[in-house]
Amino acid sequence: MYRIGIDLGGTNIKAGITDKNNAILAQANIPTDLSKSECEIIGEMSELAKRLARESGVSREKIDGIGVGSPGVIDSAAGIVKYSNNFGWENVPLAALLSSFTSAPVFVANDAECAALGEAAAGAGRRCGNLILLTLGTGIGGGIIVDGKLFRGKCGGGVVGHTVIVKGGRQCTCGRRGCLETYASASALIRETNRVIQEKPDSLLAVKYGRAGLPVTGKTAFDAAAAGDVDAKKIVGDYIEYLGEGIANLINVFRPEKFLISGGVCNQGDSLFDPLNVFVRKNCFAADKLYIPLIERAMLGNSAGIIGAALLVPENEGRPCARAGAERKGG
Ligand SMILES: [Zn+2]
Repeated sequence: MYRIGIDLGGTNIKAGITDKNNAILAQANIPTDLSKSECEIIGEMSELAKRLARESGVSREKIDGIGVGSPGVIDSAAGIVKYSNNFGWENVPLAALLSSFTSAPVFVANDAECAALGEAAAGAGRRCGNLILLTLGTGIGGGIIVDGKLFRGKCGGGVVGHTVIVKGGRQCTCGRRGCLETYASASALIRETNRVIQEKPDSLLAVKYGRAGLPVTGKTAFDAAAAGDVDAKKIVGDYIEYLGEGIANLINVFRPEKFLISGGVCNQGDSLFDPLNVFVRKNCFAADKLYIPLIERAMLGNSAGIIGAALLVPENEGRPCARAGAERKGG
């Protein structure tokens, strides 16, 4: 059997066709044009899926369906994007539209959930029934797998980026203050680095990195900290502790076997993971008595979202006997 997985991102739409061993046979990307209507974007996803099928040489009858990982809050049972602030989408019937364009059953979940599914099936979380994955990017996404299944609650559960870790703290795009993603996303780290560069023009951070004309990234503060800059060390130390508070909260609630993080910040390697693990171990409830997972880097990068999205399609879903279920979900 073959499945198509589509990772709908704010910058690119990435798609792949996978086989029963979760290997990606062919892959294609197109840029996401957010000025286009939802219908046009879904039309482009349809073209991408058809192109993949053509290029991989897999006939339509052998493709069981299409899975899509989308940003935002998803009603997976209905295949609807309830709300995505990045896309400005509300109640978009993604599964029904894409299904009508492709004549294939379509399943939708949150993009971070798909990344967690992908890592659990083929990456750092293999053979692991209880797993949490955080994606550290513009915001913070979360995929929580409990006893082998995605945790969703009634609808849209697992929105870990909008759990408050500082009462009355930084303003979040969601309307609350002090959300985890205003402190521990890659964007938060970059914002904080820029703030210090502005406020302390004589610091090593500002002189060596701020005035060099290089774009400030999630790496900048780590580089300056490694070079001995006191302000950069404070930015990095605070960032790791905020992230650690969020992770310790999640470990206390879910007690996963594995805890993975992904995103460009993970490229910092030991200078991120070593102090993060020390902090988390110190702050989890009953850490000296109970199992605490090591915080590890996710393995699959962009492929996790594609593989996980494809896995939303149940086995044999596209075969005639299973179509009734798909039509119900798609509609
Ligand atoms: Zn928030």
